[in-house]
Amino acid sequence: MPNIIVVGSLNADLVVRAPRFPQPGETISGEDLKIIPGGKGANQSVAAARQGASVAMVGRVGNDSFGPELINNLKHNGVDTAHVQIDAEAATGTATIIVDVKGQNSIVLSPGGNGRVSPADLNTVSFSDYKLLLLQLEIPLEPVLAAAKRAKEKGLRVVLNPAPARTLPEELIALPDFIVPNEGELSLLTNQPVQDLASAENAAKALLARGAQTVIVTLGANGALIVNQEVTKHIPAFQVDVVDTTAAGDAFIGGFASALLQDKPLGEAVRYGCACGALAATKFGAQPSLPTKEEVEGFMSLRGGA
Ligand code: ADP
Repeated sequence: MPNIIVVGSLNADLVVRAPRFPQPGETISGEDLKIIPGGKGANQSVAAARQGASVAMVGRVGNDSFGPELINNLKHNGVDTAHVQIDAEAATGTATIIVDVKGQNSIVLSPGGNGRVSPADLNTVSFSDYKLLLLQLEIPLEPVLAAAKRAKEKGLRVVLNPAPARTLPEELIALPDFIVPNEGELSLLTNQPVQDLASAENAAKALLARGAQTVIVTLGANGALIVNQEVTKHIPAFQVDVVDTTAAGDAFIGGFASALLQDKPLGEAVRYGCACGALAATKFGAQPSLPTKEEVEGFMSLRGGA
């Protein structure tokens, strides 16, 4: 069984639909509140677990009712939560989301425990038990960097999804085996425009010049682009009827990581990730839309080329 360790965020997404956004000082009525498990770390853990990978997560929730709910949700999805701490001093990370009738979002993020993940949280983790480390940027950079270093010392492969977009220290560009940004993240990382294949390739090459090993740019409905010193290869997207692309990126990362661990060649692992992302785009929501291994294999064999 492949073994993945994810060091990252867990959030409770608090979503309310309202006829419009309230003005400052105004109170308006909305629909019933929905509480949805989220956070890129948790989403990618679940995405990989649904692909049959054995996944453990390192993170922090707070001392409130959301914390145990998020931990239970991971357990239900088969993710090992032994390294998810309940931080007595913190609230659970939340995204308070208002959605208006036009489908526009207005979001207040509260990092809570995610903001308190530290390198010391890795002390109890035996990195040599795992084969691959998965990282995002919804926790502070110190534990992200510390985890990447520990993983490389122990011979794990490291996949960094540099989301949400921010600039990175050079060390964190060179350490990961794979950096997987979307167009906006790559643009911010390189301070270059990224809006098509040619500009994505240019920007990815700028990251290679700074020491990156392999860059995989996810391009939404245009699929993904693999760029390293040996190849530049475009993997087209699977055509689907799109309902909601939320979590397409998380589905891609989880699928890509688990495919890598099944020793698929790079191009095939990216194609597998594209199938996961496409399937996630056909369903509403984040974690509920993350496909299972059976769904992805069925879809790929229908589309020719599992
Ligand atoms: P993010 O959600 O991080 O912005 P993307 O939108 O690039 O990430 O989506 C990740 C992957 O999911 C893409 O590389 C692609 O393979 C797949 N995907 C996303 N949107 C679509 C779409 N509209 N049609 C088909 N595949 C899609």
